[in-house]
Amino acid sequence: MIVAIDGPAASGKGTIARSLAAKLGLPHLDTGLLYRATARAVMDQGHSLADVEAAVAAARGLALTDFDETALRGCEMGEAASIVAAMPDVRAALVEMQRRFAHRACGAVLDGRDIGTVICPEADVKIFVTASPEARATRRALEWSQNGDKVDYATVLTDILQRDERDRSRTSAPLKAADDAVVLDTTKLDVAAAIAAALEIVLARTGAKGPAS
Ligand code: C5P
Repeated sequence: MIVAIDGPAASGKGTIARSLAAKLGLPHLDTGLLYRATARAVMDQGHSLADVEAAVAAARGLALTDFDETALRGCEMGEAASIVAAMPDVRAALVEMQRRFAHRACGAVLDGRDIGTVICPEADVKIFVTASPEARATRRALEWSQNGDKVDYATVLTDILQRDERDRSRTSAPLKAADDAVVLDTTKLDVAAAIAAALEIVLARTGAKGPAS
């Protein structure tokens, strides 16, 4: 079974995808990490984030085991990732790796922006997770402050709106719900309720049995 979870920054898609994968016993790929790692490599090599050639070379050089998640999380890398993610050749360089992961014999859960539309249009279940920008900024600010980072709600909200705009307006694989995706609005849901709603969607779409509890 392939489960595709897409949505904007801080919508809850990563938490939902991780939890669904654990409940369903499937491997999980957070595809945002691919773009974050690409941007990190470009910066570490001293190139500008606008350097398409350097970004494509960095994307081609990635392996799925490369990621130091702690170094890749955070607002600065999210913004940097969305710059390289708007480059069609960078996206093309990362397609095969994602499709190979999705088509493992056991199935997989992938989350990102274009999983249901471009990477796995054939996915068995597609969920597009949304939440209001204000709810997303509140969650992100809380998450970062719990990690000991200095955060300012207004700046987080501005960053989220800016990233949404870049991700939605790019010509290559823009952020949007697939026509056959189920939209899950998590604005008023806590984490447990959002996960339960996502699991219900999976079970309804696939007729699969729920995980034994
Ligand atoms: O999901 P995350 O915040 O880690 O993604 C970082 C950035 O990577 C996004 O803002 C988006 O520009 C890009 N991305 C993408 N396609 C994906 C996953 C992430 O364009 N499938």
